[in-house]
Amino acid sequence: MEVRLDCLKYGCCECCKDTKMQLSEEDIRKIEQLGYKRDDFSMEIDGVRVLKNVNGSCYFLKRGMCSIYNSRPVGCRLYPVIYHVDNKKAVIDDFCPHSENINQELLKRAERVLIKHIIKIYGFLP
Ligand code: SF4
Ligand code: SF4
Repeated sequence: MEVRLDCLKYGCCECCKDTKMQLSEEDIRKIEQLGYKRDDFSMEIDGVRVLKNVNGSCYFLKRGMCSIYNSRPVGCRLYPVIYHVDNKKAVIDDFCPHSENINQELLKRAERVLIKHIIKIYGFLP
């Protein structure tokens, strides 16, 4: 499932700048299948793999677009829906300038996918 905002139409790629997007092993393998090496596009922080930045933007952001769009990580597909650790539920990140386009039904659907994804990354729900 994807949360589809018309990011290209908005000319926005804000969430691809200074990214700390966490990756599951599944995300990493999918990208590796494209020929990329995990240590080139990601690094480990506190035991979790996250996307690397180059000059302040995601390794995969090229000319304002995601160069692996069809294979982008689950977290990127669901953004601006993110997991709120303290409340243990999905919330809409108002950092995204178009987050008001996410309705409650979409949020609930994204939450189910996001929670499974978080458990894949951590092995439990933090
Ligand atoms: S910040 Fe929001 S509108 Fe901008 S690229 Fe990310 S999801 Fe799309
Ligand atoms: S993988 Fe693509 S969508 Fe995700 S942060 Fe990088 S450029 Fe953006």
